[in-house]
Formats: sequence, structure tokens, C-alpha cells
Amino acid sequence: MSETRHNWTKEEVMEIYNRPLMDLLYEAATVHRKYHDPNTVQVSTLLSIKTGGCSEDCAYCSQSARYDTSVKVEHDMMTVPHVKAQALRAKASGASRVCMGAAWRNVKDGPEFEDVLEMVRTINKLDMEVCCTLGMITENQAQRLAEAGLYAYNHNLDTSEDYYKEIISTRSYEDRLKTIENVRKTSITVCSGGIIGMGESLEDRASMLVALSTLNPQPESVPINALVPIEGTPLEELPPVEVWDLVRMIATARIVMPETQVRLSAGRTQMSPEGQAMCFFAGANSIFAGDKLLTTPNPDINADMQMLKALGMRLQKPFETHPHPTTVEACDSQFPSLGEKPKWSRPTHTIERNQEKYKIKK
Ligand code: SF4
Repeated sequence: MSETRHNWTKEEVMEIYNRPLMDLLYEAATVHRKYHDPNTVQVSTLLSIKTGGCSEDCAYCSQSARYDTSVKVEHDMMTVPHVKAQALRAKASGASRVCMGAAWRNVKDGPEFEDVLEMVRTINKLDMEVCCTLGMITENQAQRLAEAGLYAYNHNLDTSEDYYKEIISTRSYEDRLKTIENVRKTSITVCSGGIIGMGESLEDRASMLVALSTLNPQPESVPINALVPIEGTPLEELPPVEVWDLVRMIATARIVMPETQVRLSAGRTQMSPEGQAMCFFAGANSIFAGDKLLTTPNPDINADMQMLKALGMRLQKPFETHPHPTTVEACDSQFPSLGEKPKWSRPTHTIERNQEKYKIKK
């Protein structure tokens, strides 16, 4: 029977995070070995199917249309054959999952979403796990993605509810939770995590882990990102995250979410292989591989494979932890498009720091 707890408190999580590092590592590694094979790692590849020009003001993001960054806006979405070719390349490199990201506030019913559904069907038929990160979605849209064969939906909480208001002013934390709830009504697994190093306090980090671990069920995967400061964004001058902070965050996530796949995500380029090995020991059992994380740099996939080989780690095969979803063709769909125009919230607060970086008028 599962011993997973869903009632962690911020105080308990902070106590775990602040333990002497050797004690924290020992406990996290013990939990990790109880629930997972410590020598297996799951590898995902991220593919940006629609890049830049996003209407949101996420202070860390190079794809926001509000900030003057080096990201080139791609007005057209990637085509299905292009996505298929990239997925085959990722598969040949050892990835078991393709995560497709679109720089959208929320999904809109229409031809672009129909294309995304076709991409999901195509990758699923390649015997790979398919994940999407497309912004906020309704229950009907989640059902349609599930029917197409989507394995996971990513929607990060990013940080604590309190600190969220300092990072994003164009949508609310509640909206994030609502999308996760919509995904949970389907067979799609939930991927949700956050970013450290955005100026948040330790309490904020603990609160984010409480928000994730008290979801019932807990997310099947939790990406832990270290901020990669992007020139032109409001967070461009923040100092790099200390490797110890990342190790502590991963170890704490592993203890409070024992069954979850904890993903060592953005920020790996700043880490040595030794630092990454410590993250694996602390309970990370998934990485993003490929030279780009949507638009931020990431280690080369061959360098990753060499590192994993040196550590004696086995690559997880697709569908080892959850069954392979079946694909329903568009013509047999039970969930026709509702052409919804959902009213996602528009919070009224502004963030001065973000405002200073505005390139376009709100
Ligand atoms: S993180 Fe996503 S929603 Fe926020 S600005 Fe970037 S692409 Fe848009």
C-alpha cells in the first residue's frame, strides 16, 4: 500500500530542506531506492513547436513578447512531418519522451490545436511517450489530447502562490491549479514543478513543494529547474543558483513525493557532472536532453549519454511506469471541439520590475 503523504506542512518541508546535507542525502537516497531503481534515468527531449511572441509576462521567459530577448519569433507552427523527424532523431538518441511546447497563454480550439492533436497521434505511434506544454487548457481540450494518445501534460506551478504574484501578473495561481485539475479528469499523467533562483525565499520553495505534494494524486513527474537568467528579461541579473540549493530541492522533493519522477531540468549547463551525479543520488531520475530546452541552452545529448554511461545508468524505456495510451483517430473522436472561449483570469496587479522591461504596450 502506498505510504505517500498528502498533508505535508511548510514547516515540515523546511525542516527537511535545512537538514545537514549528508543526513538529507542519506534519507532521500533511501526513499529513492525504496520506490525506484536508482540506476535508471528517464530521458525526455523538448521541442518548441511554436516559438516566441507569447502574450504573458513570465519574468524568467525569453519567449514573452514583452521583453527584448534574442529569441526569434516563429509565426508558423512546426509541421507534423518536421515534428515526426525530430521525434525519430530523439528516439535514436535514447530519449523515451518528446515534450512539445508552444508559447501560448492557453489553447484555442481551431486548426493549430488540430495539428497538435495530429502531432500527438504521430509520436504516440512511434512508441514514444508524448508530453505537451501548451498553457492553460479546458477539460474538453484535455480529453481530446488524451484521446489522441497524450501521455503527460506539463503545467508548472513555477513557485509558491505568494511569490507567483512577483513573477507573473497576467494569470493567477488558481488558473494553474485549474488546468492541472482538468488534466487529472483524464488518463493523462501530470507533470508540474517549478524554478528556483528567481529571488524567492526558502519558505517559497517549501510552499511550492507543499502545493505539489498535497495534490492527490501527486504529479507523476516534477521538474525542478534552476533559473537560467536570459538577457532582456526582468530576471537577467540574478546570480546563478548554488548547486547545493538544487541538490537540497531535489532531495526534499524526493522525500515528500516518493513515487514521483523528479526531473533535473533547466540549469544543467551550469553544473558539473559531479553536481549532476549528486542530484541523481538525491533522487532525480529524469532529465531533459538535447541542446535546447525550448529556447534555453542545455547540454548536448551525446555529452549527456557519456555522463550517464560513466555513472552506469540505464535509460528507461517508454511506458515502463504507465501504460501506452491508445490513439483514437480524429474521425472516431468522442470529444468534438466545443469551440470554447474560456474566461481565464486576468489579475489586475502589475509588477514594476516587469513593467520596466516592457517592449510592447499592455
Ligand atoms: S513561460 Fe510560457 S506562458 Fe510564460 S511567457 Fe513563456 S511561453 Fe508564455
